[in-house]
Amino acid sequence: SLIVGAILSKLTAKGDSSKKGGASSGKGRSKRASFSFHGGMQTLVDALHKEVGDSNVKLGTQVLSLACNCDELSASDGWSIFVDSKDASSKELAKNQSFDAVIMTAPLSNVQRMRFTKGGAPFVLDFLPKVDYLPLSLMVTAFKKEDVKRPLEGFGVLIPFKEQQKHGLKTLGTLFSSMMFPDRAPNDQYLFTTFIGGSHNRDLAGAPT
Ligand SMILES: Cc1cc2nc3c(=O)[nH]c(=O)nc-3n(C[C@H](O)[C@H](O)[C@H](O)COP(=O)(O)OP(=O)(O)OC[C@H]3O[C@@H](n4cnc5c(N)ncnc54)[C@H](O)[C@@H]3O)c2cc1C
Repeated sequence: SLIVGAILSKLTAKGDSSKKGGASSGKGRSKRASFSFHGGMQTLVDALHKEVGDSNVKLGTQVLSLACNCDELSASDGWSIFVDSKDASSKELAKNQSFDAVIMTAPLSNVQRMRFTKGGAPFVLDFLPKVDYLPLSLMVTAFKKEDVKRPLEGFGVLIPFKEQQKHGLKTLGTLFSSMMFPDRAPNDQYLFTTFIGGSHNRDLAGAPT
């Protein structure tokens, strides 16, 4: 579980685990630690975006189908990608380009909704396993420190299913985000991230706030 992992990695971390901008150092199981960047993981995505250049990144563009023109008789090998995008130029660019290779990193459930063709004929990806993705929502709350009578210490709390049943608690757990990553909230506030949903509370993940 994400929450267990985050809490355990904090607890097992040795040394200055609040250090930002790099992975934890050292080898071995006891040296695992959570890390992030100033500004969160988006910093990494932004850096990659900058590196490859604006014109090579197509945001808000959904891949609908992929065609492998890998007909043994055809001289032009490669992939064509058909996309839906609010940006007309992205659509056109994809339509007119052929790609040597495609690396697919979309979740399997999304890949299963895409249409694939090989040499003009439908190519069925029936070898892909069916994965049950559990719905999960996050609730982020912030409180002024002066309003919190007893400050929470540690990195978070887990609510075992038994406790959920016994006390009617519906959340899976809460990370004390501002304790784990002090730059995430203004100095005078506590920030919490609560996980809702999972296998026992599927409907709650989509419930209105
Ligand atoms: C609430 C939550 C908290 C988490 N917290 C942590 C954490 O603290 N630390 C940690 O290490 N991990 C965390 N994780 C796990 C981590 O987010 C995932 O393991 C990671 O994002 C998986 O990366 P991915 O690239 O495989 O998939 P994703 O991040 O899901 O990326 C897949 C991308 O494919 C795009 N896509 C889908 N279909 C199409 C299509 N047809 N065309 C074009 N694009 C498409 C999606 O829009 C998406 O951007 C968390 C996950 C959740 C849900």
